[in-house]
Amino acid sequence: TAADTRDLLLSRIRDVADYPKPGVVFKDITPLLADPVAFTALTDELSGFCERYGATKIVGLEARGFILAAPVAVRSGIGFVPVRKAGKLPGATLSQAYELEYGSAEIEVHAEDLSAGDRVMVIDDVLATGGTAEASLDLIRRAGADVAGVAVLMELAFLGGRARLDGALRGAPLEAL
Ligand code: AMP
Repeated sequence: TAADTRDLLLSRIRDVADYPKPGVVFKDITPLLADPVAFTALTDELSGFCERYGATKIVGLEARGFILAAPVAVRSGIGFVPVRKAGKLPGATLSQAYELEYGSAEIEVHAEDLSAGDRVMVIDDVLATGGTAEASLDLIRRAGADVAGVAVLMELAFLGGRARLDGALRGAPLEAL
């Protein structure tokens, strides 16, 4: 059942206190990745969202989003597009800066990988403040594509990411397993 899947996934996420800095509880997904039953179940769930919302492309957010999004793309039979931290992609890029709690960050996508008519599902492991996902939605729209939704393994609800993303989603779904 869905509840069994949720329990399995939760049981394979390790909380690491005070990493990468004091006060942060890091959600470590490496136990989940190392368990083929759990990793397959997660891939199936995320593929289900892609099919339900009619995605034609998948964007994975660097770096753990890549690990989750790539098998979903293969499973769903649609293309995978990496959104990377600035300076990592060799071709012509679109870039988007966004604010963090302290300072700012910038992400990029190859402009030619997304185009009008694409419906893009954004996949990542953790939705925290929502800043990275929000910036990725801006990139997708600036590339001329539509947003099918955002799907994450975990939403850290106390950080308010869902509210921050609300405007940028423009009615598209945010799914958190
Ligand atoms: P944000 O832009 O604040 O939503 O941060 C999202 C990105 O940071 C995601 O790519 C996550 O992988 C990572 N991240 C943020 N907080 C955590 C956490 N507590 N545990 C694991 N990853 C996190």
